Amino acid sequence: MAMAATVSAVDLKCTSCGLALSARGATHFQCPDCGEATLGRCPRCRDQSVTFRCPNCGFEGP
Ligand SMILES: [Zn+2]
Ligand SMILES: [Zn+2]
Repeated sequence: MAMAATVSAVDLKCTSCGLALSARGATHFQCPDCGEATLGRCPRCRDQSVTFRCPNCGFEGP
């Protein structure tokens, strides 16, 4: 059990800055374009309307 080699699919990080989404106010959602990738936003990037980019399809948006 200690040898978890694969990271869970729900290992969420901010798509823009890479911050782990454990902070309060962080949010995540499915990509509005491909609907497959989960995009994350930390409170700071959300507050500053930082652009995110889908790693799956390359969709960019606020
Ligand atoms: Zn961020
Ligand atoms: Zn996408």
